[in-house]
Amino acid sequence: MRSRDGAEPADGAISPFRIAMGGIAIEASAFSPHRSTLADFTQRGGPELIARYPFIADAPTWSRGVEWVPLHHARALPGGPVLAEAYAALKSEILERAVAAGPLDGVLLDIHGAMTVIGCEDAEADLAEALRAALGEGVMISASMDLHGNVSRRLAEVVDLLTCYRTAPHVDEEETRERAARNLVAQLRQGERARKAWVSVPLLLPGERTSTRVEPAKGLYAMVREVAGHDGILDASFFVGYAWGDEARCRAAVVVMGKDVETVGAKAARLAQAAWAARHDFGFAAWAGSLDACLERAMVSASRPFFISDSGDNPTAGGAGDVTFSLARLLATPELVRGTRRVVYASMLDPEAVAAAAAAGVGAAVRVGLGAKLLPTPAPPVALEGTVTCLRPNDPVGGDLAVIGVGGIEVIVTSRRKPYHKVADFSELGIDPRERDIVVVKIGYLEPELHAIAADWCLALTPGGVDQDLARLGHRHLARPLFPLEGADFDPDLTPVCW
Ligand SMILES: [Zn+2]
Repeated sequence: MRSRDGAEPADGAISPFRIAMGGIAIEASAFSPHRSTLADFTQRGGPELIARYPFIADAPTWSRGVEWVPLHHARALPGGPVLAEAYAALKSEILERAVAAGPLDGVLLDIHGAMTVIGCEDAEADLAEALRAALGEGVMISASMDLHGNVSRRLAEVVDLLTCYRTAPHVDEEETRERAARNLVAQLRQGERARKAWVSVPLLLPGERTSTRVEPAKGLYAMVREVAGHDGILDASFFVGYAWGDEARCRAAVVVMGKDVETVGAKAARLAQAAWAARHDFGFAAWAGSLDACLERAMVSASRPFFISDSGDNPTAGGAGDVTFSLARLLATPELVRGTRRVVYASMLDPEAVAAAAAAGVGAAVRVGLGAKLLPTPAPPVALEGTVTCLRPNDPVGGDLAVIGVGGIEVIVTSRRKPYHKVADFSELGIDPRERDIVVVKIGYLEPELHAIAADWCLALTPGGVDQDLARLGHRHLARPLFPLEGADFDPDLTPVCW
């Protein structure tokens, strides 16, 4: 007897499955001037890669008898398009190790799904097809993805199993990778492939409109869980997709897997229809408006600290990190420069400015032309004259860091792109964001720690490589029509494709 949830067979017999893990995970905006190179990726194999999957050490019952074979994994902070040679190098590393690994039963394909590669459309499908070609039809491939990944028909067809996160901000990353592995083991134990249903849903939504903290995404993902728990269903996923890519696959998708085509098809259609029916309700998770409107709210608010998301240059969605639009506005606000409010600005990418600050030293005056070094940018460098208040060499993510103070504004400058998601990111620079009036962060929706300390928050619709105003970006390769890009409403075909 083999059970559906992959539990150990009742007779105690253990099948010695060999399952390999590998993949490439990056969210790469087609509109960012940044270019993602091999240097941007953290690459791991061996025990380091095993450590990415804590369930392996925990050895739950379902995993008994599985031999885990680490291949190669590369992960990068979101950025601009991946250079063709960088993708080719990572892909061949994975393929070579997969072939050299000896006989495999399955592969856990650990990918994001929003990788823009120069000269290669639908890169994740390309990688999955290459693995399939190298390993043959007998090996089951289970993809674990971010819900901001895109699922083309090509990708849905070539892999055997697919699943993605169910929370945004993502707090179920490890759980999702484990589920993808558990699904794979369950199907291997059953000795048969799951049936799949895929529906392409013509929605192009930024992540900031689809936070699962609020409706309608909250209810939609509750429905995903409910469908996944239904009898005869192995798993269900709703992919929001990636709005800052520029390929035909960039859109939402539903994938449901299970025992028979009728059930998975019906459930997938239900999820797709629910997502489409909610299309007019996907709003921002916070009050959203122009930077000027956000600043006005922040200035008069009694809520401290007041957070403003500088969303267009969010490095964790793929922004370049050196767009000066918001900093220029702050520096042009006399009350802030006079110091009537204490403001933190996180952050600006500019290694030259950090070097100038380091040469001057803490307490010294410094004069720099800040930001806008990666062209083209929507605003020129900012002339900044201030005092170096902190230097932090060799930050593991941002490289050398500097803080330059101008009146009431503390400007964090980094040598490499660095997200500011945690209180510690600030406190290691001697800044306690809880004690500031206004905190401007290059981010979309606030990550959990910042969300917890923000007394109030709004989302500034600023320009940049991940502009939330999608119509401003000028996509050229999307498959139209897409909601909400078309002016008029339309009636899409949401019929599932089943395998
Ligand atoms: Zn994501």
